[in-house]
Amino acid sequence: MQYAYLSYEFLGPAIFVSAGGAFLLLYLHDRKQRAALRLAGAFLLSAVGYAAVMLGDADIHPAYQAVVLTSLFSGHFMLIWGVASLFGRKVPQLAYWLAAVIAASIAIYSTYNGAMFWLRYAAVSGFTAYVYLLCCGLVWRARSHRVDSVVAALFLIQVLVTLNRVQLVQTSGLDLTTHHDFKSSSFAASMQTENAVFAIAIGLALFARYSVTLVKQLQRLAETDPLTGLLNRRAFEARVQALREASAPLSTGLIICDIDHFKRINDSHGHEVGDRALKAFSRLLERETPASAICTRLGGEEFCIILAGATDESIRLQAIHLRGAVERMKIATGDQPLRLTASFGYSRLDPDHDLMTAMAEVDAAVYQAKNDGRNLVRRAEPAALTGARMNRRETAFAMPCGPA
Ligand code: GH3
Ligand code: MG
Ligand code: MG
Repeated sequence: MQYAYLSYEFLGPAIFVSAGGAFLLLYLHDRKQRAALRLAGAFLLSAVGYAAVMLGDADIHPAYQAVVLTSLFSGHFMLIWGVASLFGRKVPQLAYWLAAVIAASIAIYSTYNGAMFWLRYAAVSGFTAYVYLLCCGLVWRARSHRVDSVVAALFLIQVLVTLNRVQLVQTSGLDLTTHHDFKSSSFAASMQTENAVFAIAIGLALFARYSVTLVKQLQRLAETDPLTGLLNRRAFEARVQALREASAPLSTGLIICDIDHFKRINDSHGHEVGDRALKAFSRLLERETPASAICTRLGGEEFCIILAGATDESIRLQAIHLRGAVERMKIATGDQPLRLTASFGYSRLDPDHDLMTAMAEVDAAVYQAKNDGRNLVRRAEPAALTGARMNRRETAFAMPCGPA
C-alpha cells in the first residue's frame, strides 16, 4: 500500500501557492498595497505553471504546453512588475520588451517546432534566468536596507542555479526527449526541490522587505504633519536634538514664521485654498533652506526652521531670503493668483541654550514683527526668560526684540 497523501510533484506548486497567498492576504488587508497584489500574482501564476509541468503531460495533451508557457511567462512578468513597485522603481522599458520578445520567440518556437522537451526547457530557463537577473539589478540599484542585498543575492543565486541546471541536462546524459521522460526523471525531482527552496527563500525575503517598507511608512506617518508633509512637533524635537549635537561646538539657527492674515485667506477663498497655501508655503521652506535644515509646522500657519552650523549673520540672511521668497510666491487659485506674506523672528541657538526658552524668545520676535506692520524680520533678544515656553500673547511686549 502506498503511504502518501501527496507526491513530491505538489511540493513546488504548494510552496508557490503559500507565498502567493501570503501576499494576497496582505493586499486584501490593505488594497493600496499594489506591489503585494503583483507579487501574489507572480507566485500564484508560477504555481499554475509548475503544477502543469509536473502534473500534466504536454506530449499527450498539447494544451498543457499553452498553460505552462502562459502562466510561467505572465508570472515572471508579474514578478518584475511587483519587485519594481516594491522597490519604488520604474520597470526599465527596454529590458521589459526584451523579455517579451524572448517569451514570444519561445512560445512560437515551441508551438510550431514541436522541439524536444529539453530544448524547450532550456529556452524557458533562459527566459527565467533573464528575469531573475533583471530583478537582481533592479533591487541592487534601489537597495536601501541590508534585506535588499539578501533579496538581490537570492535572485543572483537563482540565475546561476537555473543556468547550471541547463548545462547539467546536457552533460548528464539523461534522455529528456519527451515531456514524459522528464517527468519520470531524477532531474525533475531535483528541479522541483530547487524551485521549492527558491520559492521559500525569495518569498520570505520579499516579505521581510515588505515589512521594512511598511514599518518605514508607519514611521513616516508618525513623524509628519499629514497636511504639509513637514515633520511634526515630536519628530522635530528629536531631530533638532541630534542636529545640535552634531553641530556643536558651532551654534545652530532658529527661525519661526507666521503667515500674515491667514484667516482672511480662509474667509475669502475657502479652507481648501487655505490648505493649498499651507502646502505651497511648506514646499517653499524646504526649497529655500539648505538640505541640512529642519523644517516643521508648529501648528496652524506657524512654522519653525533650524539651521545647522549657523552664525547671527547667516541666520539673519536666511530669514530675509525667506521673507522675500514668500512675498514673491504665487499660488494658483481659480482666478487671481494668491499671494502671501509672513512675519519672521530668529535667534542664534548656542549649544547650551534651552530650545524651549529660545523658541519663546523667537515667538516674541515674530509678534513684534506683526506689531511693526507684518511682512518683517525681527531678531530675538536673549533675555532673562527661563523655564518652559511662554504664551506668545503674554510675552509679546515683555520681550525686547531688535530690528532685523
Ligand atoms: P496674523 O497676521 O496676526 O497671524 O493673522 P492670522 O489671520 O494669520 O492669524 P489667526 O491666528 O487669527 O488665524 C489663523 C488662521 O489659520 C485661523 C485658522 O482657521 C487657520 N488655520 C489653522 N490651521 C489651518 C489649516 O490646517 N488649514 C486652513 N485652511 N486653515 C488653518
Ligand atoms: Mg498668522
Ligand atoms: Mg498664527
